[in-house]
Amino acid sequence: MSKAAGAIIPVTAFEQNCALIWCAATKRAVVIDPGGDVDRLLQAIEKSGVTVEKILITHGHIDHAGGAAELKEKLGVPVEGPHRADQFLLENLVDSAASFGLTGVRNLVPDRWCEEGEQIRVGELTFDILHCPGHSPGSVVYVNREQRFALVGDVLFRGSIGRTDLPGGDHQTLLRSIADKLLPLGDEMAILSGHGPASTIGTERTSNPFLV
Ligand SMILES: [Zn+2]
Ligand SMILES: [Zn+2]
Repeated sequence: MSKAAGAIIPVTAFEQNCALIWCAATKRAVVIDPGGDVDRLLQAIEKSGVTVEKILITHGHIDHAGGAAELKEKLGVPVEGPHRADQFLLENLVDSAASFGLTGVRNLVPDRWCEEGEQIRVGELTFDILHCPGHSPGSVVYVNREQRFALVGDVLFRGSIGRTDLPGGDHQTLLRSIADKLLPLGDEMAILSGHGPASTIGTERTSNPFLV
């Protein structure tokens, strides 16, 4: 039986995959990348009957972090991640929202910056933190090795990789992050991306046009 369960809730006009992941034994949960649509997220949390302990952020883009301050206030839980290198993005969420015509967004000050090699625990689940710059300088990936899944944000997608034309992005750095940090996770590792369908490292290693 799987020790982890969860739901993907697409949020914002960018159809960002907000993830609600919980420990099956304890019903303790994390919300990863609440980009917006906070009321819908609260409904999903209630329907699942879980207790959210933390909000995790993969990187500082608005579709991932735009609703985090509001959700933190509503749930009374800490926000952890991303890496400090994305601080400049989190300090500019309001301006970024204005340029997209989005409302209800607040700037975000996380309770904890994540570093390579650190871990986050929720119930009986453990997530390893990988710092994977390139799409943004402070992008992090959360890996559950025991249950073999990773929340990769916008680092890697089914058949594609993250864009690198936004502030702080760098294509070669992104390719190096994927090669050095993600491919070694092994072919069986499932990846949950910030947009689009799930995949596995093996599928991407053998068929992603950016990696073969
Ligand atoms: Zn992004
Ligand atoms: Zn995104």
